[in-house]
Amino acid sequence: MPFSPLGLSEPLLRAVVARGYGAPTPVQTGAIPAALAGRDVWASAQTGSGKTAAFALPILQRLSARPRGQGRFVRALVLVPTRELAGQVGESFRLYGRWLPDPLKILTVYGGVSINPQMIALGGGADILIATPGRLLDLMSHNAVSLAEVETLVLDEADRLLDLGFAHEVGRLLAALPARRQSLLFSATFPPAIFELAAKLLQDPVRIDLPAAPATAPDILQRAIEVDPGRRTQLLRHLIETLNWPRVLVFVATTYATEHVAEKLRRAGLAAAAMNGDLSQGARTQALADFKASKTRVLVATDLAARGLDIALLPAVVNYDLPRSATDYIHRIGRTGRAGESGTAVSFISAETHAHFRLIEKRHRLSLPREQIAGFEPDPVG
Ligand code: AMP
Repeated sequence: MPFSPLGLSEPLLRAVVARGYGAPTPVQTGAIPAALAGRDVWASAQTGSGKTAAFALPILQRLSARPRGQGRFVRALVLVPTRELAGQVGESFRLYGRWLPDPLKILTVYGGVSINPQMIALGGGADILIATPGRLLDLMSHNAVSLAEVETLVLDEADRLLDLGFAHEVGRLLAALPARRQSLLFSATFPPAIFELAAKLLQDPVRIDLPAAPATAPDILQRAIEVDPGRRTQLLRHLIETLNWPRVLVFVATTYATEHVAEKLRRAGLAAAAMNGDLSQGARTQALADFKASKTRVLVATDLAARGLDIALLPAVVNYDLPRSATDYIHRIGRTGRAGESGTAVSFISAETHAHFRLIEKRHRLSLPREQIAGFEPDPVG
């Protein structure tokens, strides 16, 4: 099915074509007509499902129908869990909106950088504000912005927002919004807290349930390889070389490990970089840009730093350290195999982490064969 029956205006259809999208993804087919009609939407949508366009296109269309009034008001508010996601969502809005006859003011605000330029930029309000919760509350306490006239609210990666401990901030922000508004909720997973949030937030929502989670999608090959912890870096190098991955995102448990593993890989001659929450915003943006531009081949990241990253053509993800939760497992492997490409997700399993991985498998009704790679077989236990 093409995009044209969804009810989008010509400038937006043009942007979609220019991005090379042939047909809408399932979440777009479900959400766009409902959001255009002003309905609340509750969609299950992973990163990679095309969810950003599913909310950005209808918002752009509805806002461009009427000009913005005076004052420090925001008309559409998009709450996201991380600065990287804020940057990407802002970029998407700009790309999709570029052919609208009257350009909309689109602003992105997040913490970790100076607040003053953001306060100045917010002078006169904005049509669309993409924000992380903490920084938005800061800006509100400086009277730099008012949410009193928000027409549409989006919670993007709502499960991550709650996971990262933003529940309280989100509650305070919701209290500052007008009761009459449209709300769009996107979440990859549905822990009980999401149901509570949805009950508070949504009125008679259109539910969009997508059957295929990344865990079950056929285009991600999941592998579980047994290896002793001390040999993981060597095995990683071996896989990169033998499978000829042009790029790989490697997940480790700690900030220290991102630096340590990246350093070991560099010493072995691989272009590797660390991505962690201790890096300055500039350094994180640079690390991501280098990775996207293939200047680095291996990005070693913590979960926090990797959330929401949209990296096209990422053939492989490696769980060097296993994720703590089954939810994180889905998020991690969902970084590969995006938008119809195929990908590989490898988990390193040791005697100590074997039981933990069993739990992750059970949660997702998976049962992966345990593999051993010649030359890297673990020492027999006991
Ligand atoms: P998202 O789930 O919003 O993070 O989008 C994941 C990726 O899919 C992005 O790189 C988008 O540019 C791409 N994408 C979004 N919609 C489509 C579509 N209809 N067809 C092909 N790719 C798309």
